[in-house]
Amino acid sequence: MPELPEVETMVRGLRPAFLGRFVEQIEVHDPFLLQGCDAEEFERRGRMVQVEEVARRGKWVAITLCDHRGMIVIQPRMTGGFWLVQPPRGEHIRLTFRLAKPEAKIWYCDTRRLGKIQWFASPEQAALAFARSHGPDALEIRLEDLTARLRRTRRGIKPALMDQKLLAGIGNIYADEILFAARIHPQRIAARLSRDELARLHSAISATLTTAIAAEGSSFDAGFRTVLGLEGGFLAQNATYGREREPCRRCGKPIEKTKIPGLIGRPTYFCPSCQPRRRPRGAS
Ligand SMILES: [Zn+2]
Repeated sequence: MPELPEVETMVRGLRPAFLGRFVEQIEVHDPFLLQGCDAEEFERRGRMVQVEEVARRGKWVAITLCDHRGMIVIQPRMTGGFWLVQPPRGEHIRLTFRLAKPEAKIWYCDTRRLGKIQWFASPEQAALAFARSHGPDALEIRLEDLTARLRRTRRGIKPALMDQKLLAGIGNIYADEILFAARIHPQRIAARLSRDELARLHSAISATLTTAIAAEGSSFDAGFRTVLGLEGGFLAQNATYGREREPCRRCGKPIEKTKIPGLIGRPTYFCPSCQPRRRPRGAS
């Protein structure tokens, strides 16, 4: 958390605020999050730069600057987020972008300081760094590629879906929702899924993520908020996450909560009736 839908929601909120605008100054309040660059250097590079594009790559927010000034990449990881309105907790502000004409501020906050901030010399360098540590974007991966990647792993399907090197963007909440939509038990072995199951999984990935983006992501506790400080609406309509013992939206049986190996501290929710542990007989 935030996962692909929350980062996409951030990017869609940031785009109109940033595009074509001049950043007069970037203030670094917490150099701890910077990678490969100190605060002084970051602030020096951040004077009077125009923003060309704001985009998402997996769970990265990528801000492309004009005039070959490179690309700022922010990874919100667990507790990072952007604010166009005054953030409620000033002590969690890590970066402030001061925009000129008209004056405005955009804040990056990070409660637990788990995020990362990098300045790449060019978008190509950022793309290379992304490719080294990530598979294809979950919204763009083709069925044949997904199939090939899952056939190569020995893991359970849920940890495989959450592996950013296999495909980028999915975390704990959406892995459960996707597997529910595809009617696949989270502990099935990824390499043993049938062709039908893989096709269902592939369409469930894009359907679930698209629905979650339309709802502006998932919010619980003090976690993700949109750039305007609002809660995302996905958890009001979702099927599994946080719904232990509540009736399955498909069959009415209670949703179960469990822990699965390799995902320490992260619960798994599923419907034991809609998502059977054994591979259905006669499946191709
Ligand atoms: Zn069910």
